[in-house]
Amino acid sequence: MDSTVLVINCGSSSLKFQLIEPDSATSRATGMVERIGEESSLVADHGTALRRAFEMLAEDGINLQACGLVAVGHRVVHGGKEFHRPTVLDDSVVGRLKELSALAPLHNPPAVLGIEVARKLLPDVPHVAVFDTAFFHDLPAAAATYAIDHGLAEEWHIRRYGFHGTSHRYVSERAAAFLGRPPDGLNQIVLHLGNGSSASAIAAGRPVDTSMGLTPLEGLVMGTRSGDVDPSIVGYLWRAAKMGVGEIESMLNHRSGILGLAGERDFRRLHELIESGDGSAQLAYDVFIHRLRKYIGAYLAVLGHTDVVSFTAGIGENDPAVRRDALAGMAELGIKVDEDRNAKGARRISQDDSPITVLVVPTNEGLAIARDCVSVLGRRA
Ligand code: ADP
Repeated sequence: MDSTVLVINCGSSSLKFQLIEPDSATSRATGMVERIGEESSLVADHGTALRRAFEMLAEDGINLQACGLVAVGHRVVHGGKEFHRPTVLDDSVVGRLKELSALAPLHNPPAVLGIEVARKLLPDVPHVAVFDTAFFHDLPAAAATYAIDHGLAEEWHIRRYGFHGTSHRYVSERAAAFLGRPPDGLNQIVLHLGNGSSASAIAAGRPVDTSMGLTPLEGLVMGTRSGDVDPSIVGYLWRAAKMGVGEIESMLNHRSGILGLAGERDFRRLHELIESGDGSAQLAYDVFIHRLRKYIGAYLAVLGHTDVVSFTAGIGENDPAVRRDALAGMAELGIKVDEDRNAKGARRISQDDSPITVLVVPTNEGLAIARDCVSVLGRRA
């Protein structure tokens, strides 16, 4: 029987799970438990959610004790300064992860909860944390450093960490494999556009810049997050609108972005609203595209020479209009998209004579996490 890895991704109110055979890259089962802890929900907490996930696997005919389970992989958003390699979890690592929650209060606490519950429910298999920040750990200092008071930044571990790293690494490796080139022979821009969105510039296999920063709030316009804003907005709202800091952070993370501008965050719905003549939806789309184009231009300049631009995640993989508008009019910068290929959702959507190749590359963070688990356990054995 092929060995399997259970990959768990805990958000504040949802738990996604996937059972994967890393060797054959096969997903045996996948599912999601939603509305954790919400009023009127049957799922009171993350423990109940995980038990529900096990029931869903059993309903699919999967017995976790008898499916060759070799590890449980946990996606952890923030690894802080300390964690960048996949890390086998024990009590001391879990304790240190809890300390990191101050850096990522919206993201890490649910993951830690999920880890604690899963270790209790599956005590006989190793549990491994895989960090969203890992790929960007060695960003060049010029890209990782905020130009703020140096002593304060040091004391409070303030730097640009970058997120979605598992996806940026996986997609850049798949893009290189598709082109039959080694990753260290290519300069790439990866555009991960989903509910959360981020861009990265990768030179010869090493990330040299990425759009997310201390937290996943910085950078592109997202489903509910503002992306880049002038930080003075926080002080101004605090003084003028008498809003609390927590309230302002919550607004920037949960009620901004496409949702904040259009009242809707899903791009399929956004296009319908635009079709029906909704001006707010059009503005939200235009702001999203404008920011995306700014990052693409910036990363073309950061890299100097670019071989490939890849689109991935829910929007990047499925929305031809976004891909078209993000790259329109960039022939002089070396990017020529083929309208037909783009509309059909081909893997290579650039014209044959485009100096920069443009690809659509489905991401697979679950598989990348499962493989990281197997490789760290293999190294330990
Ligand atoms: P997450 O960050 O939750 O992993 P995904 O990568 O799954 O997000 O992306 C989800 C988003 O992708 C949805 O909110 C929706 O905006 C967008 N999306 C999914 N399918 C399509 C589609 N066919 N056309 C346009 N947008 C889509």
